[in-house]
Amino acid sequence: MKRIIAMYLRVSTLDQARNGYGLGDQEVQCKKYIDLYYPNDEVEIYKDDGYSAKNLERPEMARMLDDMKKGKIHTIIAFKLDRLTRNVVDTYKLIKQVMDYNCSLVAVVDRLDITSANGRMFVGLLSLISQWEREVISERTIAGLEQMVRSGKYPCGGKAPYGWNKTEDGKLVINEDEAEIINYMTDCYIEGYSLKDISKMVFAKYGYRKSWRHLKELLIRKLNIGVFEFHGVSYDDFVPPIMNLNKYNELLKMAAHREVHSLEKQTYTFHHLVYCSCGEMMQHVCTIKHNSGVSTIYRYYYCSKCDKRVNQSFLEKEIFETLFLEEFRIKTIEKHKKQEQILSSLESKKEEVFNAYKENVVDFDTYKFTMAKLEKERNVALKELSSLDIVSNSKYFEMTQEEKYAYVHDMISKIIFDFDEQIVLSIQFKRK
Ligand SMILES: [Zn+2]
Repeated sequence: MKRIIAMYLRVSTLDQARNGYGLGDQEVQCKKYIDLYYPNDEVEIYKDDGYSAKNLERPEMARMLDDMKKGKIHTIIAFKLDRLTRNVVDTYKLIKQVMDYNCSLVAVVDRLDITSANGRMFVGLLSLISQWEREVISERTIAGLEQMVRSGKYPCGGKAPYGWNKTEDGKLVINEDEAEIINYMTDCYIEGYSLKDISKMVFAKYGYRKSWRHLKELLIRKLNIGVFEFHGVSYDDFVPPIMNLNKYNELLKMAAHREVHSLEKQTYTFHHLVYCSCGEMMQHVCTIKHNSGVSTIYRYYYCSKCDKRVNQSFLEKEIFETLFLEEFRIKTIEKHKKQEQILSSLESKKEEVFNAYKENVVDFDTYKFTMAKLEKERNVALKELSSLDIVSNSKYFEMTQEEKYAYVHDMISKIIFDFDEQIVLSIQFKRK
């Protein structure tokens, strides 16, 4: 099948009035170009009369793209680029499609031919601009949502957050029953009940089932005091609060206290191991930061004498690299030792067997057999030792908190940190 040329023409009624050129004029210009460059090719005309270039949904445009996808067309000729599309994103989309189907595109008046070097540069620029446009559009979407928030409307789709109902105009009003449950749970938490207990108590009293794992989040989200956090901005008095500020502060204090003193001490990877270069053993402190109802806990090691603290993740990064090297070193030494042991025990066994043979305790066949067996044993042992399993940093990131805690406490006896230099001065390893 010989591929043909597509001539695309579009005119809106407004164009005709403003610019004076209609379909006829476009057709003449395109025809001239075709006569000049493709005098022997068959031409099919696609004409959208009275359509705007707002998008690509035009009947003749659709038919042309369809023909192109079927491989019927080798070149699309248009009068001007703005006959094809009117925005950068659509232009880029169209040109990309055209290129994907191994077709070329010429805009006669714009002197654009995407197969030329200039044309390719133009396509590159288009892709950048269209990327930029898309980003601007998504910024606009966020801005639109922020506008919603400013006018007091809840911008997240779906159900209202627990404790509120959504009104028809998108605002949140208190759901008295749910608000009572949240307050009851908060009271219990401040009194010292565990999250698991509270979960059971609430079910017994209200029939409301909530996994204890998500309970804390529900209680400490800022929305409870009316504050909504959205894209890094806090909106005070966004919703009617269901908890008073005093109670909320008590709750946070309690949460921070439990963080340090309960079983959760394991969340401090270097519990009781970190010392300040001034000599003090460091204590645990944590801060809780809230963002869009999600709380994040930041853990620190704190020297009360210097009144300075160091972030746990920072320490972890600093320490684990050294730790893995040390582990590697220890394992290597251990393996060398074992290797030597195996070799020397083998030598003495060989000697025994040889002596036994020499003194006619065993015959030659037994001697030969035993020697071969020993040699085989030795090879197996050495092979096992030669595969050193190298520990990597990625291993650390795969560990659960409990594993990290156990690993660190198995290896390390003391860590000294210096605040002035912001470095780990020394790591003391347990003797192995
Ligand atoms: Zn200190």
